[in-house]
Amino acid sequence: MLTERIYYVTNEIKRQLSLDFELVEEKGWYLLYKRNFDKSYWRLDKPEKYQTQYFLKLNTLDNWAKFDAKDLQVNLLKKERGRNEIGICIWENCLTNSLNGLIYCEKHAYEEMGIRA
Ligand SMILES: [Zn+2]
Repeated sequence: MLTERIYYVTNEIKRQLSLDFELVEEKGWYLLYKRNFDKSYWRLDKPEKYQTQYFLKLNTLDNWAKFDAKDLQVNLLKKERGRNEIGICIWENCLTNSLNGLIYCEKHAYEEMGIRA
């Protein structure tokens, strides 16, 4: 079941895509899919060798190829890694707990270090 708004593209996501989605449109770096189950629209990043690929649910089709997914991606990074209970982000003046396996919080890992997963 796809209950989240955003996913990393895994084999399971690819399997879901082939089972329950149809390709509607292609624009720039993205592919627009419609889910047969509930008629919702989803955006898939085109595969890029060195880029993390995301699959996300759209709330609207307005400017769908321009939708800024940054907040969703930062949240996904936090959710996947989890916050470290003891560690604090080493970025200056940041008091947020770091993520597991990192010395940065999700915001600084994403924005300053370019970490996506
Ligand atoms: Zn931080």
